[in-house]
Amino acid sequence: MTATRTPGVPVVEDGALVSTNPATGEEVGRFPVASDANVQAAVARAREAAAWWADLGYAGRAQRLLRYRSVLANRISELAELVRREGGKPAAEAIVEAAAAIDHIAWAARNARRVLGQRKVRGSLLTAEHAAYLEYLPYGVIGVIGPWNYPVFTPMGSIAYALAAGNAVVFKPSEYTPAIGQWLVDRFAEIVPEHPVMQIVHGTGEVGAALCRSGVGKLAFTGSTATGKKVMAACAETLTPVLVECGGKDAMIVEADADLDAAASACVWGGMTNAGQTCVGIERVYVAERVYDDFLARLVDRASKLTVGNGEDADFGPITMPSQIEIIRRHIDDAIARGGRAVLGGPEAVQPPYVKPTILVDVPEDAAAVREETFGPTLTVAKVRDGDEAVARANASTYGLGGSVFSRSRGMELARRLRSGMTSINATIAFAGVPTLPFGGVGESGFGRIHGEDGLREFARAKAITRRR
Ligand code: NAP
Repeated sequence: MTATRTPGVPVVEDGALVSTNPATGEEVGRFPVASDANVQAAVARAREAAAWWADLGYAGRAQRLLRYRSVLANRISELAELVRREGGKPAAEAIVEAAAAIDHIAWAARNARRVLGQRKVRGSLLTAEHAAYLEYLPYGVIGVIGPWNYPVFTPMGSIAYALAAGNAVVFKPSEYTPAIGQWLVDRFAEIVPEHPVMQIVHGTGEVGAALCRSGVGKLAFTGSTATGKKVMAACAETLTPVLVECGGKDAMIVEADADLDAAASACVWGGMTNAGQTCVGIERVYVAERVYDDFLARLVDRASKLTVGNGEDADFGPITMPSQIEIIRRHIDDAIARGGRAVLGGPEAVQPPYVKPTILVDVPEDAAAVREETFGPTLTVAKVRDGDEAVARANASTYGLGGSVFSRSRGMELARRLRSGMTSINATIAFAGVPTLPFGGVGESGFGRIHGEDGLREFARAKAITRRR
C-alpha cells in the first residue's frame, strides 16, 4: 500500500529520499541518497563514458539523441502523469513542458556540428603563411543541478546541449522531484546502454554541494539566487566554470496603445501558469494611467475565473514546496500592511497547499511583493505615466530574467530598454518556446545562457589551432 505523508515534504528515511505528491501526500518514489564517495564515483565513471561519447562524433551522438527524443515524445503522457503526481501541475501543463524540452533535444542534436564543429577562419596579413581553425571541444563531464518547478524543461535545457556538445552528464535533480529526474535518466540509459553517459545522484542540497566540489569540467546550476551564490562560491575553490540560471521578478509593461484584451489574457497566463511558480513568470505589472482602470478590470475578470485544485479541470495545482506558501503569505500581508489593496484574492487566498489568484494594487515599490521573488499566483499592478516610467520602474530591480511589453507602436523600443535577458512583445514568456533563442538573465538572475547557439557554446571550450602552410 502507498504511504501518505505530509504533502510535498521530501524526507530521508533509511538512507532513501522519499518524494510525495504535493496535493495528497501520496508517496511517489524513494531513491538512495548519494554520499560524497558516490558522487565522486559517478563523476569518475562519467569521465570514462565521456571519452567514448565524444568519440562517437556529432553524427553518432545526434542519432542517439534523436532516438531519445522519440522515446520521450512517444511516452509523453506517462511523463506528464509523473510530473503531475510529483510536481503537482495539471497534466496538460506538464505535456506543454515536456514537449518544449523535447524540441530542445532535437534542436541541440541537429545543430551541434554546425555551431561547434571545426571551421577554417580568416587569418591576417601578419600570419599569411598560417591557416587558422576554430572549434569547440567538450569539457568532459558536466554537473547539472536542477530545480523542481519545471523538472523536465529546465534541466533538459542544460542536459541536451551538454550531451550534443560531446560531454557526459551527472545530474542532481531537486529533492522535490527525484522520480522525474530518474525517469529521464533511465530512458536515456535504455537508448545508450554501453556507457553511463547520463547519470543521476539523489539527495538534498548537500549532494549538489558535493557535485560542485567533485572536479566536473563545468557546473550548470538552475535554482534560486541564494543557492546560485553558494554554488559559485563552492566552484570557485577549484576554479570550476559555472553557469548560473537563477530567480526572477519579471515585469510586464502595458502602454496606452496596447491591445488590452490580449494584454489581460497574456498577463493571467504569464503570472499564474504553474501557480506562478515560474522563473520567467510575470510578477509586476506597470500600466499607463490612460488605460489603467480598463486593463485592471479585464485582468481581474479573467483571473477570477481561474480554478485551483488537484484535478485535471483545474487551471493550476498546489504550491509544490510548502515553505514557499509562507513566503507568498508574507508578501501579501506585507503589501497590505504597507497600504496595498487586494482587488482579487488576498490573505484569504492562501489555503495550503493552494493559493488562489491574488492581484494587489497601490503597493509601495519597497514592499517585498515588488522587490523579492514571490513564486506564487500573485501580481502587483501599478499605475505609471507611460512606457518610459514603466521601464524605469521595471528596471529598478536586482533581477533581470525575462519581461514583456504590450504596445502597438513602442514594443521594440521598450523591449530593448528593459533590463532583462529575454523580452516578449505583445505576449508573455514566448521567448522560452523558441529553441534558437538563448535563455538567461542579467544581474541577480544569473549569467550564462542555455538554449540556442549560445547554449551549445556554454558546454564546450573554444579551441584555436593554426597550421603553417
Ligand atoms: P533551490 O532551492 O535553489 O534549489 C535548486 C537546486 O540546488 C536543487 O537541486 C537543490 O537541491 C540544489 N542545492 C541546494 N543547496 C545547494 C548547495 N549548497 N549547493 C549545490 N546545490 C544546492 O531552487 P528551487 O527551489 O529548486 O527552484 C526554484 C528557484 O529556481 C526559483 O528561484 C526560480 O526562479 C529558479 N529557476 C530559475 C530558472 C532559470 O532558468 N533562471 C528556471 C527555473 C527555476 P535540493 O532541492 O535537494 O535542496
